[in-house]
Amino acid sequence: MSFALTVLENVVRIAEEKRARTVTKIRLEIGELLLINPEQLEFCFRAISRETVAEDAELDISVVKAKVTCSNCGKEKPTPYGLCECGGRMVVRGGKEIVLKSIVMEVDDAQG
Ligand SMILES: [Zn+2]
Repeated sequence: MSFALTVLENVVRIAEEKRARTVTKIRLEIGELLLINPEQLEFCFRAISRETVAEDAELDISVVKAKVTCSNCGKEKPTPYGLCECGGRMVVRGGKEIVLKSIVMEVDDAQG
């Protein structure tokens, strides 16, 4: 729930800054290591965005993989678990961010 709330707060703030009438699309990237289920995030977002500028927004959520490399030989690995065949430990980079990539909104063109 808290991730959905964070996203909504940011979207509403940006929409207000731009004087948007409605938000039509939101693109999000979530790191795989956050273990967020995109459907669940969308469900929560739907529930809390009612009667905000973002209530009709389409959510486009993509899950971003973490980059795992061996600390010893530098080889890329598919998972952060276990040891490399060279005996090196895994180093994980990324995969823990939630990024608001873009927001599409309709702005009132009337100037007062
Ligand atoms: Zn290695």
